[in-house]
Amino acid sequence: MTLTAASPFRLIGFGLGWAVVVGWAGAGPASAADDPLVQAIQAYEDRHYDLAYRYAIEASHKPSPRVETWVLLGELQYLRQELAAAQTTWERALAMDPARTDVRQRLQQLRKELPVEQGLARSDTHPFVIRLAEDQSAVDLTDLRDLLRNVYRLVGQSFDTFPNYPITVIVYTAADFSQMQSAPHRVQGLFDGKIRLPLPAGATATESLQRVLWHEYTHVLVHELTKGRCPIWLNEGLATVEEARVRPFPTQAFRAALSAAGGTPPPAGDGPPPDVVSWGALWQERAYYDPVLTSRYEQAYLIVSYLVRTGGWPQMVRLLRRLGQGTAIQEALRVEYRRDPQELEAEWWSWVRRELGVTRRARG
Ligand SMILES: [Zn+2]
Repeated sequence: MTLTAASPFRLIGFGLGWAVVVGWAGAGPASAADDPLVQAIQAYEDRHYDLAYRYAIEASHKPSPRVETWVLLGELQYLRQELAAAQTTWERALAMDPARTDVRQRLQQLRKELPVEQGLARSDTHPFVIRLAEDQSAVDLTDLRDLLRNVYRLVGQSFDTFPNYPITVIVYTAADFSQMQSAPHRVQGLFDGKIRLPLPAGATATESLQRVLWHEYTHVLVHELTKGRCPIWLNEGLATVEEARVRPFPTQAFRAALSAAGGTPPPAGDGPPPDVVSWGALWQERAYYDPVLTSRYEQAYLIVSYLVRTGGWPQMVRLLRRLGQGTAIQEALRVEYRRDPQELEAEWWSWVRRELGVTRRARG
């Protein structure tokens, strides 16, 4: 997610849940290979959405399909932007199993989107599927198409990743965007399986749009490489490093916090999260905590800047792929950066103090 300063990335999706379904469905490899639901799940995990859709349809035609068939089919219809069909399918899943709160939440989100979507026009730029409000001018659309072609190529080069499945980009008016997301005004974009952004206005609109796209599209690629297993602050660090290619990313808030903390993170305590944290604590954060958001984004930006400077993008991409295989972040860092993660972290604290001109004080 892009904020005026920065903000949370949320991936609303079933993510790792499918692995459980595969285990549950597997009555042995021979029968699993014949099961269109298992094949649909596999194709979905591999991001072969068209294939997954065909298998899911096939599974839905079998006698008494399992609830997962409807959950997955709904997800695929949702990704294809067939929102009315997705709604019917998920309602069916919920009727079969009213305890599925994940499906209930998806339906709630979908119902908020439906009225807005009906007023949107469709326009494609492979592999992006662009939806935008009809009153937005053709000039905006030309800009957006150019930006999308560039983001696909340039951010794709960092990650050596060029998806070939549809990526929906929904451009809202500012009013629709805040209504849709119930999001605070400073949210400038988000990726939740689709890239969503309000079309900025004014003299710097194109630059703002580019910055938001560079940021959100990075989340698309990180999700692809890590299969949704990236710690949130590594993910945001990557997105802000790409964003900084468009406009320098600020570091003042983190600098001030680091200076106030005496140049090192305070020891872990029971209180609210401090605005300077050790890597170990940072990787474990599972939610965005508003009071420290600005400082967190800046710390994440500085960590990823250092990692990319130290090892380059290929090493970062290998690290992300390891996370996608289920390796924990500390272990992935140890293997890819060939040293104890604590040693790597200590090098970073020295570097960041030098970089920001912060001196270290003994804690008193
Ligand atoms: Zn983000």
